[in-house]
Amino acid sequence: MNLAERDLKVIWHPYTQMKTAQPPIPIVRGKGTCLYAEDGTKYIDAISSWWVNIHGHSHPYIAKKIAEQLTVLEHAIFAGFTHPGAVELAERLLAILPNNQAKAFYSDNGSTAIEVAIKMCLQYWYNKGEQRTKIIAFKNAYHGDTFGAMSVSGRSAFTAAFDTLLFEVDFIDLPDACNIDALKSQISSLKSQISSFIFEPLVQGSAGMIMYEAKYLDELMAHCQKEGVLLIADEVFTGFGRTGKSFACEHVQTQPDIMCFSKGLTGGTMAFGLTTCTQEIYDAFLSYDKMKTLFHGHSYTANPIACSAALASLDLFLEPSTQQNIDRIAAKHTAFAEKVKGHKSIKITRQTGTILALEWETGNNTSYFSALRDKLYHYFLDKGIILRPLGNIIYILPPYCITDTELDYIYTTIRQALDEI
Ligand SMILES: *Cc1c(COP(=O)(O)O)cnc(C)c1O
Repeated sequence: MNLAERDLKVIWHPYTQMKTAQPPIPIVRGKGTCLYAEDGTKYIDAISSWWVNIHGHSHPYIAKKIAEQLTVLEHAIFAGFTHPGAVELAERLLAILPNNQAKAFYSDNGSTAIEVAIKMCLQYWYNKGEQRTKIIAFKNAYHGDTFGAMSVSGRSAFTAAFDTLLFEVDFIDLPDACNIDALKSQISSLKSQISSFIFEPLVQGSAGMIMYEAKYLDELMAHCQKEGVLLIADEVFTGFGRTGKSFACEHVQTQPDIMCFSKGLTGGTMAFGLTTCTQEIYDAFLSYDKMKTLFHGHSYTANPIACSAALASLDLFLEPSTQQNIDRIAAKHTAFAEKVKGHKSIKITRQTGTILALEWETGNNTSYFSALRDKLYHYFLDKGIILRPLGNIIYILPPYCITDTELDYIYTTIRQALDEI
């Protein structure tokens, strides 16, 4: 039996209808922007392996740092104990985050980082003896797959089987020039019940790379802050350079109370989550009353190997060449978008930093289950490019080390697809 056949006997894959799924492609090696299959086929990873990879695959520097850490300390309990990597990482990240971020809470992935943020907000008000239990989120939001994270995400095919069990959330439209005043009044009318507002700054990834203006987000954030509503910026996807700046919140003036990170945190090497918060939130949990403790933790909280991967990734991220690469990718995306604009198969193009989305004209409405999706997916796979359309929306968000030649090959192939499909 080959690997794909053995896989199908024992594995249940994420986001996959196993009844109709094609056999998975066995990947045996990764280097730079590319993944290599067992049969030798090379694939350009144009979506950074589900948006996590920022410096390329099997990066030798991250590998070296992890290997060193493995022989020193692999893991230690993180209640009552600490270790150098956890402290250094928190110090270095807090130094580059908005300056109101004061404390770091580690967890395992993006969804857990969100769970921690939600619990911090709800218990902040509980500890203060105030009945603020409502949460506001954007329509079509995606914040993860655990129950709390699903609850604050838009109701969709992903959540349908669980909708009756999810806690209630007030979903609001993305802000723009027309609705900003109405949104502000809506928040003001509910303010005494609202604990927090959670949002993906600038780009709603899973919704289909939906983008909205920093200016109106800023206005909404400032209004929430005025009304005492805590702000949770979900930077799980946008963090670490994706939007052109280190963090999407650098595009706005208002500082969030809580920030969540995961995808780029270890450069795409390991599962890891981080929730940061202000001193004020942290202080609301300080008490001689044990009931005011944040009772949350995971067995592998602040795993030293994950911390060393994150520290190594941060070293690379802070090298000037990384920002140059981010700017280079953004400029090339802009030039390409300019060229395909007006093509009869393109409905619209959107770009924020290194993220470029192209919406394919289908004649019908946009849908995650669009038949075009499978056609496009296989078209690009056959040409050695991993692009995973969200319905009829194709997006490119490559590791920052992608070469101009690789980018040009992706663009050329997309233009071919536009003419052929
Ligand atoms: C991916 C994602 C999450 C969930 O992260 P996981 O590590 O997959 O649990 C949360 N929020 C946003 C914005 C994401 O893109």
